Amino acid sequence: MLDIKMEKTNHPKPKPDQDQLGFGLYFTDHMFIMDYIEGQGWHDPRIVPYAPLILDPSTMVFHYGQAIFEGLKAYKTKHGRILLFRPQKNMERINLSNDRICIPPIDTGLAVEAIKAIVEVDKDWIPEAEGTSLYIRPFIIATDPFLGVRPSYTYKFIIILSPVGAYYPEGIDPVKIFVENKYVRAVKGGTGFAKTPGNYAASLKAQVEAKEKGYTQVLWLDGVERKYIEEVGTMNVFFKINGKVITPMLEGSILPGITRDSTISLLKDWGVEVIERKISIQELYEAHAQGRLEEAFGTGTAAVISPIGELNWEGNKIVINEGKTGDLSAKIYNTITGIQKGDIEDKYGWTVEVN
Ligand SMILES: *Cc1c(COP(=O)(O)O)cnc(C)c1O
Repeated sequence: MLDIKMEKTNHPKPKPDQDQLGFGLYFTDHMFIMDYIEGQGWHDPRIVPYAPLILDPSTMVFHYGQAIFEGLKAYKTKHGRILLFRPQKNMERINLSNDRICIPPIDTGLAVEAIKAIVEVDKDWIPEAEGTSLYIRPFIIATDPFLGVRPSYTYKFIIILSPVGAYYPEGIDPVKIFVENKYVRAVKGGTGFAKTPGNYAASLKAQVEAKEKGYTQVLWLDGVERKYIEEVGTMNVFFKINGKVITPMLEGSILPGITRDSTISLLKDWGVEVIERKISIQELYEAHAQGRLEEAFGTGTAAVISPIGELNWEGNKIVINEGKTGDLSAKIYNTITGIQKGDIEDKYGWTVEVN
């Protein structure tokens, strides 16, 4: 058992209006922190009042970006139970990311206990309105005050919580996506499979330019040939072509999404053929031209399922499923969110109860 020290705030904050949450704007009263020192390992797990961190300006994370993060959600059911969705998977992925960024591994069981503990402390912050949840953001930063380039000897593992509404203001409505042909996100051998801030820093320019053109996100192509589809900004991507579902295979440049994994399991269970393979943007456009591209959607914790209504590749725009949410996209969304909220029986053992 994790022995977590507890220091509760004397100044609880007012809670935000549940209809105006947005994404990532509000933070709860407490946070979890645990330190790492080489030779001593991870130690001093504690829950303390949410507050700014005081860090030396030379702290390594500011200079070389040695950091990783995660994202998952807690939900309150109709009957007041608090559910996490596949938290063990997120904690396993932390270690996958850690390994790539030279951060020492964490004990995944302890990390899940830490998540349960901090969610329990701030459980009154879990919103209950339709489409809302408590977003959980664990992250690790390198904390040596040092300007040389090497892995840090010290780290902090922190968990903060944010009550959130729908990720996209459009909700489950289809989004317009710009197929990025100038910038690339990741290459094999790089850090594409790791959830690390540097990948996002590298993606911002493309995102800003796509926004200026009226698109919600970019669809990344492979970094070598700019030919094969990789993923959308914060989501993995799926295409329904001729009744079969195709998603890019994980080859090291794509983030191994947990919503992706859940979606594949559901589809297989429903008898829908799912193929993980390379798919070129050319092939996708040809399928559309032949009337075989039935649905396209992104998967990720924040939005769960985000249907794609339009793509723009080098000025060639295609509208998918008349710009409407497809039946399969809607079914996956309803099933995953139903399981997350405890409204649909969880026969997969995905949900984990807090306490
Ligand atoms: C987090 C993330 C995803 C989605 O992963 P989930 O585990 O489903 O939330 C997809 N792509 C990128 C780049 C991500 O950072």
